[in-house]
Amino acid sequence: MTQKITALSSNLIETMGVKKSFKKSDHQDLLVLEDVNFILRENEIVALLGKSGSGKSTLMRIISGLIPATAGEVIYLGKPVNGPVKGMAMVFQNFALLPWLTVLQNVELGLEALGVSKSERRARAIEAIDVIGLDGFESAYPKELSGGMSQRVGFARALVVDPTVLLMDEPFSALDVLTADNLRSDLLDLWQEKKTHIKGIICVTHNIEEAAILADRILIFGADPGYIKDDLAVDLPRPRNAQDPKFRKLVDEIYTLMTTPSADRISVAGVRYKTIGLGFRLPYVEISELTGFMEALDSPDYQDRVDLPELAEDLQLNVDDLFHIIEALEIMRFAYVSKGDIELTGAGKLFAQADILRRKQIFAAHLLSYVPLARHIRRVLDERPEHVASEDRFLRELEDYLSQEAAEEVLKIVIEWGRYAEIFAYDYNTGILSLENPE
Ligand code: ADP
Ligand code: MG
Repeated sequence: MTQKITALSSNLIETMGVKKSFKKSDHQDLLVLEDVNFILRENEIVALLGKSGSGKSTLMRIISGLIPATAGEVIYLGKPVNGPVKGMAMVFQNFALLPWLTVLQNVELGLEALGVSKSERRARAIEAIDVIGLDGFESAYPKELSGGMSQRVGFARALVVDPTVLLMDEPFSALDVLTADNLRSDLLDLWQEKKTHIKGIICVTHNIEEAAILADRILIFGADPGYIKDDLAVDLPRPRNAQDPKFRKLVDEIYTLMTTPSADRISVAGVRYKTIGLGFRLPYVEISELTGFMEALDSPDYQDRVDLPELAEDLQLNVDDLFHIIEALEIMRFAYVSKGDIELTGAGKLFAQADILRRKQIFAAHLLSYVPLARHIRRVLDERPEHVASEDRFLRELEDYLSQEAAEEVLKIVIEWGRYAEIFAYDYNTGILSLENPE
């Protein structure tokens, strides 16, 4: 019993059954998070790793009390969160600085809302600026600062409130690689040398290596709707070396977890493929990316099975793009992933080695078989006497499943794929789909 109480008291944040849906229209909801349960313990950095659109930012906003959950609860230091919480501070991807205020004023801003006196505000802001290495830039305006310096202001503004928990939403994604490395290691120094009173950090990222460098625990986020798919403890000593074989092994393991088949798959000859419905949020991937990727996989540089981290590095792809391409290839059954390796299917190999005309035929056959939306559009066009239909018609249908923005994106991508496959034609100016050109 005593043990249990000690364990509970060291939890900084707990989320229990957190669910979030957004209203799309009067009678339609978009479910973004479902049953999110996790704990941030004292003295740990947790990385929340997932692809974009999976609801990570939404979760962070719920945790910090900026927006309410639709169901479930967030507990901060034993008390339910029902609005902005004093002990938590957030760092955003886009810095969110006010251009008409100096660095010092931007940092002080964090304290104004708390009703701190002017002189104390100033003193604390100067200290935060000092801690984060911005000394000498107090009177500069945001437009005079590089991305790295701007984000340091973002950090100073969070640190100035002397938070217990620091929430970071992709704080390094807008920075170039070297700047990001630099700021990340400065942050880790602050953390390890206990230069602040921060007791726990949650960092949202879609960068696998970043998660592996930073975190004591990595939560892998699944999508549609967002949920925590895996919880991976990292017990590598710091500072971590990205070349260390143990680190590489960890990165491999994360790749594997991120591509592990989930329930929406079916088994065909021992391979589990993703199957999708009409309203599935197709990944935004262009034909040139798909063909380029399949050609690379088929090249003599690789064996049949290719290690994903290695491939990502060779092709200089960020993880988001990589996973989008892989997802598209899996949906189209041109490739599949197992144990962190990717392999072309027979059809994928055939495609990679075919000439343009043959490629289009293979692509058309797979598109009509495995992408219900493409099949649906084609069927509507086939059935209509004039063989034409407005894109708006399909857009409205998609909005039953997706937000307007997502629906537009999905339709755009299916139109691009369909035009390439020549299963229908599209007039960009009128938004009319037809069977005009396809043979
Ligand atoms: P991530 O941070 O993982 O990229 P987000 O939390 O930003 O994901 O978004 C998750 C989903 O919720 C997206 O489909 C997004 O369009 C939707 N969404 C986010 N905020 C809102 C909102 N205020 N209203 C409607 N939909 C939203
Ligand atoms: Mg986000």
